[in-house]
Amino acid sequence: MNEFALIERFFADPAAHEPPPSWLRLGIGDDAALLAEENGWETAITCDTLVEGRHFLAGTDPEALGWKALAVNLSDLAAMGAVPTGFLLALTLPEADEPWLTAFACGLFACARRHGARLVGGDTTRGPRALTITALGRVPAGEAILRSGARAGDDLWVSGQPGRAALGLAVRLGALPSTLPGAREWIAALDRPEPRLALGCRLRGLAHAMLDVSDGLLGDLRHLLERSAPPFLTAEIEVARLPLDPLVAGGAPPERARAALLSGGDDYELLFTAAPESRDQTLLLGRELGLPLSRIGRLVPATAHPMVLIEPDGRRTLPEVLGYDHFCACKEYP
Ligand code: ADP
Ligand code: MG
Repeated sequence: MNEFALIERFFADPAAHEPPPSWLRLGIGDDAALLAEENGWETAITCDTLVEGRHFLAGTDPEALGWKALAVNLSDLAAMGAVPTGFLLALTLPEADEPWLTAFACGLFACARRHGARLVGGDTTRGPRALTITALGRVPAGEAILRSGARAGDDLWVSGQPGRAALGLAVRLGALPSTLPGAREWIAALDRPEPRLALGCRLRGLAHAMLDVSDGLLGDLRHLLERSAPPFLTAEIEVARLPLDPLVAGGAPPERARAALLSGGDDYELLFTAAPESRDQTLLLGRELGLPLSRIGRLVPATAHPMVLIEPDGRRTLPEVLGYDHFCACKEYP
């Protein structure tokens, strides 16, 4: 049973067949749930855990961890087009290590200040190190960008430089030399991801569907495709349009750069779809925000395969590895 089958089997709301309560705008299945407020806004709420040995290595710089624990949650708010408000911190620690806590809090509040989020509560327990944050945000009612809004004919876009975090991890694990020109930047992307909050907000009314890339571009793209309404969609990804050159220029072997970009986790870039008519406006927005936006393909009515790669020579291939799944080490495709 994979992670998503597990959620579906045991935690899909048993009351889902009943009409939802009026306060519930969106439940399980997107980057955040949406709760109705009375003043023309909706609350977006999301929760993510970082576990030692799974999401970060023992001995990771606690300041970076503090930043990242919050940043990955704010990224889910960004993926809805929401603006952060408060957050709750549930901390499980093996011991009360003062230098560790000082550095962790420093990173945490640096991220909180930068993005205007307030710590409003939490829980503190002893046990194997795990960091859970529940983040709250707000978005004008009806304007959140859902995973489910994609349409046939949409362009597929991704922000920034996906693939850096996976290469950073490879450097950290000694699988790539730390002397490569891109190594510092990749490790920074792994340790201090920047939630794309400004972009998320500005894409309201422009993007049809969106999610953040936490588990790998293709794996997360598949989640977006799965949420689209019947008769369903296939994504055609144009390999020549992927932002591979900067990774290769940083010293990543081309095959490794491609795998990191398509399947590496932990990037927290935004993946979104938009009408071809919005191309100029989208490019302009990227320039205004100083964040490159790459148009990497398009969505077509469903064919035999949910995702197809169009190689630079025109050949159509199927992706090998998708994304990360906590309960499934196997290749997921097809
Ligand atoms: P993300 O990568 O954006 O954080 P996930 O892939 O972790 O999202 O989760 C997919 C969806 O399943 C989300 O809507 C999340 O809220 C929901 N979910 C995950 N675990 C549980 C659970 N144990 N109970 C209910 N819903 C869950
Ligand atoms: Mg997400």
